[in-house]
Amino acid sequence: MGCGEIGGGEMSIEITPALLADLRTKAEAAEGGEWKVYNASDGSIFITGDDEGPHLAEVWWPKEANHIAAASPAVVLALVDEIKRLNERFDEQKRLATRMIEHTAEQKKEIERLRSFQVVAVEVIGKLNIYHECSDPDECRSCDQIKAGIEAVKKAKSEAINADQA
Ligand SMILES: [Zn+2]
Repeated sequence: MGCGEIGGGEMSIEITPALLADLRTKAEAAEGGEWKVYNASDGSIFITGDDEGPHLAEVWWPKEANHIAAASPAVVLALVDEIKRLNERFDEQKRLATRMIEHTAEQKKEIERLRSFQVVAVEVIGKLNIYHECSDPDECRSCDQIKAGIEAVKKAKSEAINADQA
């Protein structure tokens, strides 16, 4: 799992796996459901759970009460899950990218091997043509074999390239 950092005012909090696990444990143990701010007639401010049932906490300041209600255990669990999902996706993308880089390197090596083969094949055929002094190309079996050899090399080359691309 990857780690990130968030800055909040003077504080800089590192999002570690331990922090996420701690948030999850505490959120799962806490009162579930939707949290709301309840303003009592005497001016007291409370955080309530489902159905404005029993008060979970009394809070002195409205802004802080809003924040506590917004950061309910369900919301914290959803955030922890989302961070986990994003980290897993990031790791998967990294694995894919690594595999693509490896595949590209392998393809480059294969292209080099094919080029070496091509050079050798062209040399061999060139020598065959030089060494063969033909008196009658229309009736010569050696000429036919040289032509067949050139075709065979061309075919083998294109098949090798196609296999490499598949
Ligand atoms: Zn010939």
